[in-house]
Amino acid sequence: MIILKSRDEIEAMRAAGKVVAQAHELVRELVQPGVTTWDLDVAVEEFLLKQNATPAFKGYQGFPASICASINEVVVHGIPSKDDVLEEGSIISVDIGAFVDGFCGDSAWTYPVGKISPEIQDLLTTTEEALFKGIEQARVGNRLSDISHAVQRHAEEGGYSVVRDFVGHGIGRQMHEAPQIPNFGPPGRGPRLKAGMALAIEPMVNMGSYHVEVLPDNWTVKTRDRKWSAHFEHTVAIIGEGPVILTTL
Ligand code: MG
Ligand code: MG
Repeated sequence: MIILKSRDEIEAMRAAGKVVAQAHELVRELVQPGVTTWDLDVAVEEFLLKQNATPAFKGYQGFPASICASINEVVVHGIPSKDDVLEEGSIISVDIGAFVDGFCGDSAWTYPVGKISPEIQDLLTTTEEALFKGIEQARVGNRLSDISHAVQRHAEEGGYSVVRDFVGHGIGRQMHEAPQIPNFGPPGRGPRLKAGMALAIEPMVNMGSYHVEVLPDNWTVKTRDRKWSAHFEHTVAIIGEGPVILTTL
């Protein structure tokens, strides 16, 4: 069942979204060669706790950290580690979730480490654009898969593939609520979109094939062909007729 949110509840979600956006600003400043993903996790966790926010990922189904930190061919759910040192020319996808006053915000961004190649920059740009193409479709009267289709079309027009095995989701008092939001598929399917829906839209876009595999740690998701992948996510609410991004400043 899709839980519709009142205006007041969406305002509460906006507070959670703002803290997540601020945490991303912090990450953006910290990402540089020599920094470890552990350092990023510690910084984000300290920041969230100082804002009276609760890291949403820590302890979620046993996940051991406050951020997911996914380097290069890691698609999502990378576990921060003192051994993972950021290198010039790499990319790192950082996913952050936080609860404030009982509501969740969830947002991911892929950051360049130092100077990256034009090919990799294009992957990042196209994935971010695909996110916004999806967000544009989060309108009253559209159907859920209009979001999915817009994301897929933009990513594939750019020459990339979209991951099938992981999807976006409804969000609210729980981090993961109905509906699931695939990043692929034909338009015009699924539930009609309504005011009060809150959705985490999150394309994962690969340079090679869309196939992924989960490593033996049961978390880390890599592309099967080890080509690189990007991940951009916003938490969005439908207010009035259209989308409002909650995980922004
Ligand atoms: Mg996320
Ligand atoms: Mg999410």
